Amino acid sequence: MDASAAERYARQTRFPPLGAAGQARLAAAHVAIVGCGALGSAQADLLARAGVGHITIIDRDYVEGSNLQRQRLFDEADARDALPKAAAAARHLAQINSLTRVDGVVADLDSDNVGRLLAGAQVLLDGADNFETRYLLNDYAVARGLPWIYGAAVGSYGCTFTIRPGATACLECVFGPRPEGAAETCETAGVLNFVVDWVAAQQAGEAIKLCAGQTAALRPTLAAADLWRNEFRQLAAPPRDPACPCCGQRRFVHLEALSAAASTVLCGRNAVQVNPRRGALDLPALARRLQSLGTVRQNEFVLRFAPQTGPLEMTLFADGRAIIQGTDDPAAARSLYARYIGA
Ligand SMILES: [Zn+2]
Repeated sequence: MDASAAERYARQTRFPPLGAAGQARLAAAHVAIVGCGALGSAQADLLARAGVGHITIIDRDYVEGSNLQRQRLFDEADARDALPKAAAAARHLAQINSLTRVDGVVADLDSDNVGRLLAGAQVLLDGADNFETRYLLNDYAVARGLPWIYGAAVGSYGCTFTIRPGATACLECVFGPRPEGAAETCETAGVLNFVVDWVAAQQAGEAIKLCAGQTAALRPTLAAADLWRNEFRQLAAPPRDPACPCCGQRRFVHLEALSAAASTVLCGRNAVQVNPRRGALDLPALARRLQSLGTVRQNEFVLRFAPQTGPLEMTLFADGRAIIQGTDDPAAARSLYARYIGA
């Protein structure tokens, strides 16, 4: 560690359980953050400042004005430009700590790309807002024997649990099969920013302990709190379930599932993601083609198109995905995509 790095981390290395040796392990560590909304951006901020050497951030979405209340890596310019969150996060983190390598990956994590996108990461952090991604992450982590840290926040309630395959119960041992149907979300129930930070702080703390090799300091319980009602609970985690399809039977149904459906309703947002898995789109060429058909706005990452003919707006990503705003009907979204982009 050179002098400026030593000075930078001095308050942390002075903490005996970490010390210079722990700091060196953080510098050599690679953490992946799946989902860079409120939880993910707070985790990334803490881990970059703590000196984790390599952070991969995966997110499928772009920054909107309604994110700024709690997604603390982003600012008004990011929302105005509709920057992809992974790219905006990488840009801000580079200014926070240039010693940390940050890979911002604009993609929707699925069973096809999970192995490639998470390759090399030794700790996985849950910043996702949906159970599809979490159960996929759980399958991947158990299959590869990697620790991952679940976290969720809604309203004034937050919950987190550190999962170490082979040592603790997995997500499926704790919560059973993946829930189907609608659940309470931040869009429907709201969420308070200090609740998100409470969860993210614990996730980041557990990640730092794991990276530093301090497994004895990990929290074995499920931590839950309602910060409005000032209720804090530590729930004993259930034991590993030998009948658990994932960690007991090692049947990784989410990992082996066929590619995610071609369209996903983004719950509570009046939007549908269309992912025809057609491969990369040439956004500048597309912008020229769509110019006469409606309003086109473009930056280096995304193209926004509002057709003259209707109320819907489409945000296109270079990986071929689109988010259609203004509908929760997958068929209408796919049809708009097919009409202007091609099936
Ligand atoms: Zn299990």
